[in-house]
Amino acid sequence: MQRRSFLSALASTLALTGLPIAAQNSQGKRIIVVGAGLAGLSASYLLERLGFEVVLLEATQRVGGRVRTLDGIKGRPEGGANVLGPNYGRAIAYAKALGLTLRPPSRSAASGLLIDSTYIPAADWATSAKNRLPSHLKRWMPDQARTLMLPKALVGSSDWLSAQQQQWDYSALRYFQEQGAKPEAIDWFARNNSYGNSLADTSLLNLMRVSESIQTAIAMRQPTLVVADGNSRLPEAIARALISKIVFDAPVQTYRATRTQVTVITSGGVEFSADAALFAIPLTTLRQIEFQPQLPVQMRELMNRTPYHKVLQSHWTLRRDTTGAMPDLVWTNGPLGRLFFSKIDANSVHINAWINGDDVDYWRGLDRRQQRQTLEQALVQIPAASGELSHDVEMDWALEPYQQGVWATWLPGDIKHIPKVSQAQDRAFFAGEHTGVSYSGMEGALESAERAVLQITRALS
Ligand SMILES: Cc1cc2nc3c(=O)[nH]c(=O)nc-3n(C[C@H](O)[C@H](O)[C@H](O)COP(=O)(O)OP(=O)(O)OC[C@H]3O[C@@H](n4cnc5c(N)ncnc54)[C@H](O)[C@@H]3O)c2cc1C
Repeated sequence: MQRRSFLSALASTLALTGLPIAAQNSQGKRIIVVGAGLAGLSASYLLERLGFEVVLLEATQRVGGRVRTLDGIKGRPEGGANVLGPNYGRAIAYAKALGLTLRPPSRSAASGLLIDSTYIPAADWATSAKNRLPSHLKRWMPDQARTLMLPKALVGSSDWLSAQQQQWDYSALRYFQEQGAKPEAIDWFARNNSYGNSLADTSLLNLMRVSESIQTAIAMRQPTLVVADGNSRLPEAIARALISKIVFDAPVQTYRATRTQVTVITSGGVEFSADAALFAIPLTTLRQIEFQPQLPVQMRELMNRTPYHKVLQSHWTLRRDTTGAMPDLVWTNGPLGRLFFSKIDANSVHINAWINGDDVDYWRGLDRRQQRQTLEQALVQIPAASGELSHDVEMDWALEPYQQGVWATWLPGDIKHIPKVSQAQDRAFFAGEHTGVSYSGMEGALESAERAVLQITRALS
């Protein structure tokens, strides 16, 4: 029943947009979808429901891309996408329709900060001598203060792309300097910043976009959500619902188009032909594909210069009795980034040191012994955080060959060009998180799939 109602809701959405359901013209038409992340999976699912034949090619041996539950590690921490916003209509609808359970995550508020290696409990932060935030923002964590200092100019989720808002598309570093923030505060705003590898390379407008979308989610007064047993269960469930089989180990290297058909060739030399191709992959790997005919020069230039954000997660297990108090989240201005703690069982705690941007380079330069020492020295400062440490795994997203980063971080001044990367080029179509308009992250990937499916259906009808 749930699944039928999801499909009929989807059908009415598509009908509203003028798309004929199971369009007659789709019958017998074949679409190659490149990439089995959420965007490619959802696009394949929708295309199949509309009567297209789909060939889904995936470079690796698994679906989900940047959604990646670390199933081999006790407590199944997330190595990729963490939480679904309460405003993620598409992701929530898929989860419900496919029989998955959603629940609020166990993580909550910050328990403290490690500033220059000194621990300050969150409750003491506002009055701490080390607090260099602007006086009216002292009670906030540095990330929250950064957000509260942003201009409140955006009206609605797609306004960040409108012409009048492009005046804000300049370096966030310049903005905070002009606001008179102290150098220490600016340094904290640069650390643990998810939207640029440095603050100079972070677009103020992009920060405003993220803040607007978080405010919208907060206004719903509903908790964020995770998928029970791990977020990877969501892409896996969509994959199981597909009619066609996914072709794994098929990294696409070449695209050729004639007037009537397209051919893609994998690195192993296997060729697939179809009426159109949808590339649901990050810009970092899209730019490695040889296109014949070439993509337009402006699109290529944007694709080539757009950095992807560096995130390195160092996952550890701390063995200790967990019946008493336990830290939750500790914000640091040091090499450990943010430390996320979560209870695994009565004797063990999972620690994820989440390092962002250029700070990743420093951590990479340490060997495992130095990394352990750095973490041990930090844990000694944090109440209820000592115990026997063992290293689980490192997720260094910039080194993942088919992502090369966690998401696109548009350089200041580039936001007005973003629509170019979702423009169809004859029989080549584009989707993925980086082409999301009203949403980013997982919901942005799903949103982009709908837009691309509409473009394909219109173009091939
Ligand atoms: C550490 C981390 C934390 C995150 N936290 C959140 C969060 O809390 N909430 C949220 O909403 N989002 C979060 N995200 C972002 C979210 O995971 C992504 O936006 C979303 O999953 C992207 O989906 P996608 O389909 O666009 O791309 P991807 O998931 O990257 O999928 C692309 C797929 O294409 C494949 N591929 C690449 N190149 C080729 C090729 N040449 N040929 C064939 N296949 C190819 C890849 O292997 C991959 O499977 C996070 C991401 C990371 C990494």
